[in-house]
Amino acid sequence: MSSSPYKRVLLKLSGEVLMGSQPFGIDPEFVAEMAKEVKAAKDTGLEICLVIGGGNIFRGMAGAAKGMDRAQADYMGMLATVMNALAMQNALEQLGVPTRVQSAIEMDKVCEPVIRRRAERHLKKGRVVIFAAGVGAPYFTTDSGAALRAAEMKCDALLKGTSVDGVYDSDPKTNPTATRYATVDFDTVLADNLKVMDASAVALCRDNAIPIVVFSIREQGNLAAVLAGEGTKTIVQKGA
Ligand code: UDP
Repeated sequence: MSSSPYKRVLLKLSGEVLMGSQPFGIDPEFVAEMAKEVKAAKDTGLEICLVIGGGNIFRGMAGAAKGMDRAQADYMGMLATVMNALAMQNALEQLGVPTRVQSAIEMDKVCEPVIRRRAERHLKKGRVVIFAAGVGAPYFTTDSGAALRAAEMKCDALLKGTSVDGVYDSDPKTNPTATRYATVDFDTVLADNLKVMDASAVALCRDNAIPIVVFSIREQGNLAAVLAGEGTKTIVQKGA
């Protein structure tokens, strides 16, 4: 059984972690590596919801910067997240982990629509549920989608797996003396504009008292360590 402080978590992976060493797109080998991490976490007895970004394929802001209509570009970004979700479902099921994809934009030939009570049943049956297409609306990101699903599925924490190992007081790439927080308050993150997730996602987590655990998914075994309450990470929480 799980030695984790959590029973149910929402894991948010940015699309970039699926592209491996490629500059763009999906690297199936890398998706398989990520799926192994998810399986290891699930094997400890946790219920796992997943949200995967789309930045490895298309970001609405990038399209808008090149003259596209923002909303139109955002819908393209949402479709990108569905592709990533299907790639991850494939990788998880190849490892024998039953998985369901629920999309905020209905596409009944490829996945289920988001139905909270159905997702609940999947989790109870030991399936991983991947929530695709963010919140289903433009001008949002998959971080907001992750915060929304974490709240409605009553997750104990939102785990944000990125390529950085936590939240720093300044940019560690440009400032060698930047220090990583062990814990930090939601309001500090918002007031100091610390790069964790976009502000609407942080505010939604704050208002629903869902801690955000920021960690590097690129370090092998780190997800399992973080879930066991160990590993290198920053926890964003109330009153830190
Ligand atoms: N997107 C959106 N609404 C949502 C979620 C995503 O419009 O609720 C679009 C948006 O254009 C975004 C893109 O989908 O840039 C890909 O998601 P995101 O940038 O969050 O991916 P990540 O950075 O996590 O890979």
